[in-house]
Amino acid sequence: MATERVQVVVIGGGATGTGILRDLAMRGISALLVEQGDLAHGTSSRFHGLLHSGGRYAVKDKEAAKECIEENLLLRRLAPDCIEPTGGLFAQLPSDDPAYAELWVKACAEAGIETEELDVKGLLKKYPVLSPKITRAFTVPDAAVDGFRLLWSNVHSARRYGAQMANYSKLTAVYRSNGRVAGVEITNTLTGETRQIECEMVINAAGAWAGEVTALAGLDVSIIKDKGTLLAFNHRLTNQVVNRLRPPGDADIFVPHGTITLLGTTSVGVDDPNSFKTTDKEVQDMLAVGREMMPRIDDYRIIRAFAGVRPLYQADKGAGGRAVTRNFALIDHEQRDGLTGLISIVGGKFTTFRLMAEKTVDLAAKKLGNSTPCRTKEEPLSAAQPAELLERGKKVFGVPGAKKAAERLGQDFAKVVAEAEKDRAKRRMFCECEMVSAAEIDHVAGDGDSKTLSDIRRKTRMGMGTCQGIFCSYRTLGAMSDHKQFTGTHREFLAEFLQNRWRGVRAVLWGQQLREAQLSSEIFCTLFGMERMK
Ligand SMILES: Cc1cc2nc3c(=O)[nH]c(=O)nc-3n(C[C@H](O)[C@H](O)[C@H](O)COP(=O)(O)OP(=O)(O)OC[C@H]3O[C@@H](n4cnc5c(N)ncnc54)[C@H](O)[C@@H]3O)c2cc1C
Repeated sequence: MATERVQVVVIGGGATGTGILRDLAMRGISALLVEQGDLAHGTSSRFHGLLHSGGRYAVKDKEAAKECIEENLLLRRLAPDCIEPTGGLFAQLPSDDPAYAELWVKACAEAGIETEELDVKGLLKKYPVLSPKITRAFTVPDAAVDGFRLLWSNVHSARRYGAQMANYSKLTAVYRSNGRVAGVEITNTLTGETRQIECEMVINAAGAWAGEVTALAGLDVSIIKDKGTLLAFNHRLTNQVVNRLRPPGDADIFVPHGTITLLGTTSVGVDDPNSFKTTDKEVQDMLAVGREMMPRIDDYRIIRAFAGVRPLYQADKGAGGRAVTRNFALIDHEQRDGLTGLISIVGGKFTTFRLMAEKTVDLAAKKLGNSTPCRTKEEPLSAAQPAELLERGKKVFGVPGAKKAAERLGQDFAKVVAEAEKDRAKRRMFCECEMVSAAEIDHVAGDGDSKTLSDIRRKTRMGMGTCQGIFCSYRTLGAMSDHKQFTGTHREFLAEFLQNRWRGVRAVLWGQQLREAQLSSEIFCTLFGMERMK
């Protein structure tokens, strides 16, 4: 049957799957990661981007809180270029139960989360955007995490250890033989070509799609698909994460990312992780709660609304939404269903992806007879840029441009700087909002993994700043034409990009954002004739 062979096939290019791929590779286990879209196609790009301190879970779920703070502290050390150590606040309003503050402080101390009470007057002076009604506020070690960068860092590191990754490749069959997994079929979602891969084990890290993956093996795993909506504001409202000091609820966290802020989130059950919408009501309900913490929120433009689906493992079929544990479940299908060679890892959080990967690979390695211990707790994901290289980068891209490119590109920064030194035209900023140069775009377009403008967007943040791609999208198209893996016409690539961006704009069309959308529609429809595209 097979033309290819690896020990383990990992399904799902999210935080969990890429973490597992790296851990397997570091233990010397040959592995292939299969992802139906590009990396971060699922929830790992549709989340709040909060590296939890654990404060949110301290009262209700001490184990989850402990896991969060331990992983938070580890990841800051191991992947500093993926994390902005913003710090966080928990602030209480008069409508919140005052007794909860003491309960929370005690629970944080028990979980090992450092908190410090702040002088509210000083806080309001620092952040006038916050409600003057705040009664108490505390600091916590929250941080902002760049999901795309972290996932790619995992894959780059795994590849250095010999692992393989196939994006735009969907698992379409699981082959079984004598009660064991024998291999898989994967289908290229761009070309329709299929590949058969022989393997000893499949690790299902397909998040909200985990039930569909086990169904291909003839087994059932029950996952609650819990949609959370997020709003992106065109401004960095505060430099710290702001949480509401009360039991977790909707719209009670603001997370600053680069030049924008994300407000979220909600908790609504959905049937299909491929098809769900953000409703006007969800947007308005979130704004109503957000306004309590930041009364001047309407002075800012909402650049988009988007949603992700939490995969919550349904241990008790009666429980729903926020009542179900955010902790993860590791399912050994040999023990549960009598099928050797299939493991599912479901639930959890982005913050705890490394721990989830460690536990999963511990089980997989034991079954494969591999006794190499996990090293992801010690080995950094990426190294800091040499000072001399950063100085060269500043000369070609300017100080902020070089800093951002160095953080985004990791090891590849040196190549991009060298290209820009050789060719002045490559120093030009294609995306002024996020400071992405022509050299960086050209490098990412030619990396062999990028197939669409959205892939380039996710890796570089081109089109993710306040203008949302109005100018940089068509500048980027020019760079793509030099790379032969981009087949099709330029307008098709632009249409794919615009359609993806437009999805998040529809729910927030009023005021300044409506004017911005009209400008972008004029540019794309009248200048580029995009209205004639199907
Ligand atoms: C709104 C929201 C906000 C959140 N905020 C936070 C936060 O601030 N901090 C935090 O720590 N956590 C947060 N979470 C939780 C966190 O985002 C998720 O737990 C985490 O991203 C899940 O990662 P994953 O790799 O398990 O799943 P995913 O990222 O969904 O990855 C699964 C992948 O499997 C792929 N796949 C599925 N089926 C197949 C197939 N047949 N073949 C090939 N590939 C397949 C999918 O395309 C997908 O890319 C949030 C979740 C939501 C919904």
